[in-house]
Amino acid sequence: MIIGIVLLCLAVVFLLFYASWSIDSGVYLKCLNRVETKEKRVYLTFDDGPDPEQTPKVLDVLKAHRAKAVFFCIGEKVEAHPEIVRRILAEGHAVGNHSHTHTSRFPLLRRQAMLADVEACSAALEKVSDRKVTLFRPPFGVTNPTVAAVVRRLELRPVGWTIRTYDTRNSDPDTVLKHIEGKLKPGAIILLHDRLPGSDRLLHDILTYLKTTGYTFNSLLP
Ligand SMILES: [Zn+2]
Repeated sequence: MIIGIVLLCLAVVFLLFYASWSIDSGVYLKCLNRVETKEKRVYLTFDDGPDPEQTPKVLDVLKAHRAKAVFFCIGEKVEAHPEIVRRILAEGHAVGNHSHTHTSRFPLLRRQAMLADVEACSAALEKVSDRKVTLFRPPFGVTNPTVAAVVRRLELRPVGWTIRTYDTRNSDPDTVLKHIEGKLKPGAIILLHDRLPGSDRLLHDILTYLKTTGYTFNSLLP
């Protein structure tokens, strides 16, 4: 009897943990995790920029491959490097909100504090772009009732991913490419980070590989 109760409690804890940490669980918040299409199109997304070293290099690679992407920016970095955001937009890419501070405590913030943080990022982006920010990617991909309430209140469109490349853990492009290969499907949203050293070379390899498969690269509509 006691063992049964303990197992039930463990299962509930596991489910709550899964619901928060899995962006495609959809338990608290339904995110756009894939674009519905049968055409061979993928959607590139970059988190955690703009980075003064890497983002310009990533933009160069995108331009060389005529690919478009969405950059989910951190508000504090937008304030520090507004010229990079201007370049992102001038080159036909989209920007989205990825919180102002990207603090590790983000998922645990109280509603008012989280609301203020997310609003500050939109304000920083809108100051540079003069366009309303609609796309939002939750930091760490964590969703919970507070994140859901903030997204609803600010009328943001939450975006997840189909393919998490694990580029933050893997610096070997072949490993990342193999991972993408295994999960590639029409309408896939690919998660990358433009703050990582070598992110431009990795992007070049990914785009070169995708071209051989006949896929095109698109930006999500803001
Ligand atoms: Zn992030």
